[in-house]
Amino acid sequence: MKGNDILALLDEPACEHNHKQKSGCSAPKPGATAGGCAFDGAQITLLPFSDVAHLVHGPIGCAGSSWDNRGSLSSGPRINRLGFTTDLNEQDVIMGRGERRLFHAVRHIVDRYHPAAVFIYNTCVPAMEGDDIEAVCQAAATATGVPVIAVDVAGFYGSKNLGNRLAGDVMVKKVIGGREPAPWPENTPFAPAHRHDIGLIGEFNIAGEFWHIQPLLDELGIRILGSLSGDGRFAEIQTLHRAQVNMLVCSRALINVARSLEQRYGTPWFEGSFYGVRATSDALRQLATLTGDNDLMARTEQLIAREEHAAEQALVSLRERLRGRKVLLYTGGVKSWSVVSALQDLGMTVVATGTRKSTEEDKQRIRELMGDDAIMLDEGNARSLLDVVYRYKADMMIAGGRNMYTAYKARLPFLDINQEREHAFAGYRGIITLAEQLCQTLESPVWPQTHTRAPWQ
Ligand code: SF4
Repeated sequence: MKGNDILALLDEPACEHNHKQKSGCSAPKPGATAGGCAFDGAQITLLPFSDVAHLVHGPIGCAGSSWDNRGSLSSGPRINRLGFTTDLNEQDVIMGRGERRLFHAVRHIVDRYHPAAVFIYNTCVPAMEGDDIEAVCQAAATATGVPVIAVDVAGFYGSKNLGNRLAGDVMVKKVIGGREPAPWPENTPFAPAHRHDIGLIGEFNIAGEFWHIQPLLDELGIRILGSLSGDGRFAEIQTLHRAQVNMLVCSRALINVARSLEQRYGTPWFEGSFYGVRATSDALRQLATLTGDNDLMARTEQLIAREEHAAEQALVSLRERLRGRKVLLYTGGVKSWSVVSALQDLGMTVVATGTRKSTEEDKQRIRELMGDDAIMLDEGNARSLLDVVYRYKADMMIAGGRNMYTAYKARLPFLDINQEREHAFAGYRGIITLAEQLCQTLESPVWPQTHTRAPWQ
């Protein structure tokens, strides 16, 4: 990886952080890798491609530190559930055997597991050694007949966020555009003018939540050509250059992909979210509008009316139980505004929200939802979170898993909202699941007990 390539990725014109006086948000800082290195970010981004073998070229610790920490589900192949590494040791480094080990590892994986492609992640040690992984990829692809893609993301290149972008950049430059989409099935009920192909960027199918949205798109005649990368397939993402519209799903980490595809192929894109009734309806509307198909827009409005009505019916009793309850939200991520919107849909009050990774645009959306006095937390340490909880008398905390023990030690109800969560919260069905989980969390009989003295005290 050349230094200029990394600088170009740090200078992302579509990212709000670029408008600040300092450098782009992903500039490497000393110690920044403590929150995940570039390799970690790249592997998290690409690991949901479930028919691809993900081979980590480096010491075994790199593979162990990053593997499978996002609950993305696959509807088919599960090769991505296997952890592959060249497991470089001191002898390999001293003897310069890294490239040979890598080549044989690819042959072994292809012979034994038959993946659609092999992604090779370069890490710090072979990058410092100067292993020519591009050359190995070419030789291995020729020898095996399977695409072998180098993802050059040594941890010292920068932060996790930079790794997300590097991974996206590899997809744009080496994978997307490699194949034409399959024709629509003969028996499809939609006339050619009303068939639409779209792409999803930054959708990770956490806990299978995209399967709440997929049937709605099927019903509208919208086909997902490729997803980067939830429930993704290598052959599908290769066709993404033919998408009519790309949706950047609630994640600024891959904004460079959306912008690059617009530049290369003229594909319009928008940023949307599937968390909450309002956000889901808005996303479907924007998709339909960008296709320019009036018939689709009309059908989308009908579908939205039907789904919103069904969701409202299901939420009546749940909303009564949640109305007026106060929440401290700390996702630490950019999707805070969409979760705020979902919680407000349920009649809850968000007393404060985390905005550590949010852009100015995200913060503006939060102000629109919560008012100009919205409390935005840039720091998520335990003390400051609990101070906000006590000051504003929050009834519960909704945050990522790392904040779970902060909440439990303070005897505060807690719901995991981040990538490790086990429940699917997207779409009209997801908001019902979210409401049910919130009720179960708040009404658990454990909370009154934690606030009373033990009988022997
Ligand atoms: S790539 Fe480098 S920083 Fe990242 S886990 Fe491996 S050794 Fe550590």
